[in-house]
Amino acid sequence: MRENVSNIKNSTRFISTKTILKGIQTAPISFIDAVFQGLAPDGGLYYPHRYIDLSEHIKRFVSDVNMSFVEMASHITRALFPAEFSEEQAATICEKAFQFSPAFHYIDEEISLLELFHGQSCAFKDFGASYLAAVMEERLEEQDTRITILTATSGDTGSAVAQAFHNKKNIEVVLLYPSNKVSPLQEKQLTGMGDNIYALEVEGTFDDCQRLVKEAFQNEVLCKKYGLSSANSINIGRLIPQSFYYIYAWVKLQQHNENDWVFCVPSGNYGNLTAGLLARSWGLPIKHFIAASNENDSVPKYLRTGIYTPHDSFATLANAMDVGNPSNFERLETLFLLESQKQNTKNDTGTASYKTYKNTIHTYMKQCLYGESVSDVDIREEMKRVYHMSHSFVCPHTAVGVCAGRRALNSADFGKKHNYKKTVVLSTAHPAKFFEIIEDACGEKVKLPERLEHFLHKEKTSTKIYPTRESFQESLQDLLG
Ligand SMILES: *Cc1c(COP(=O)(O)O)cnc(C)c1O
Repeated sequence: MRENVSNIKNSTRFISTKTILKGIQTAPISFIDAVFQGLAPDGGLYYPHRYIDLSEHIKRFVSDVNMSFVEMASHITRALFPAEFSEEQAATICEKAFQFSPAFHYIDEEISLLELFHGQSCAFKDFGASYLAAVMEERLEEQDTRITILTATSGDTGSAVAQAFHNKKNIEVVLLYPSNKVSPLQEKQLTGMGDNIYALEVEGTFDDCQRLVKEAFQNEVLCKKYGLSSANSINIGRLIPQSFYYIYAWVKLQQHNENDWVFCVPSGNYGNLTAGLLARSWGLPIKHFIAASNENDSVPKYLRTGIYTPHDSFATLANAMDVGNPSNFERLETLFLLESQKQNTKNDTGTASYKTYKNTIHTYMKQCLYGESVSDVDIREEMKRVYHMSHSFVCPHTAVGVCAGRRALNSADFGKKHNYKKTVVLSTAHPAKFFEIIEDACGEKVKLPERLEHFLHKEKTSTKIYPTRESFQESLQDLLG
């Protein structure tokens, strides 16, 4: 055994958000168990079991101007999980996962982009998916077991997962996507990989795909037979690595003495924003974030009113953010509940009434997050404006961030009040992924990068199924035996 007692004690473990929010005590589980389980048995999302302090590490990162993203990621991995990974293993996982880095792109005096789309599928989801895949592969190899990853996708998640898990040993991937409801390029990304990646084209909606996956996970016989596991965006193994680029970006800006800026995060399921807040809870000295949504605005509305009203999602130009009931809202609540308890130990929220505790969460969340929602009309305007000003294209999701960021900077009760002069907007996808929308708004051709271009020439290989349990299980049998 490589673990020693102090490593086990220092390793970060995980508890369900539902457990924490109810004030119940349970034994936390290890990172690896949380990764393979995905969702907690009580339906909650996994969250770190204790306060983690990485501020000494962060100071060291600032003093080393040559440190690369991969090196930083390896250090943090080892610091978070000393019982799970040796230094060498942490480095191997990060080198495998991150064959790309975040990059800065200057737009104008107010706006800089943190480009997170230099990975294989051209979206920020590559950071989470590749890290998860590298962690799983490392552990399965050691245990000599096989698993099947089952994922429903409306486009972006599936392509990141397909790329990340392609040719990973001991892992098969089955993707379910709704027929005729993903873009032609996305469909090629899902169906053109081959090898251990299987695509099921479901004659139904994305909701049908999700239902089939959910039913499969509730079926113990299937779970055992295929070793079913999920690579869902709520998996803690996808969330943790997203915190790394916040630390990296902050360190790089700090090295250039930049400090009058604030992160702005285009959000749908709020995983990306949660990852930034986790980094902050680990000691990254950040006061605020701007939470940018499209017209699916349940979180900005909550920040304004204190009332959370999830709704059915509706379609916008920034479709990867079309979420009316973000699953990470529970993690946000947990995070700010714990923050309130840390700051005010006398305020025992465990025994406080439901209403007081909800109010406390809202108060703390509102102090840290500034919400803005952006309409389709404004998304188009912002894409045009950025193009005319800087001759660069931004995807519709990034445009939501740019527009929200500008508004937040110029608002009296946020930007002016806290003296922010600039915002660093997380650029979540390569513009070419959404070339139809951009070409329509800007009247200019968008060039596909080579790693997308080559998918256009790939053969589509998928299996059509009806949106029924029988049809789905038959196809699993055919594909996997
Ligand atoms: C998934 C996605 C988002 C939303 O990220 P969340 O973590 O769900 O908030 C934004 N932009 C793009 C391009 C995405 O693929």
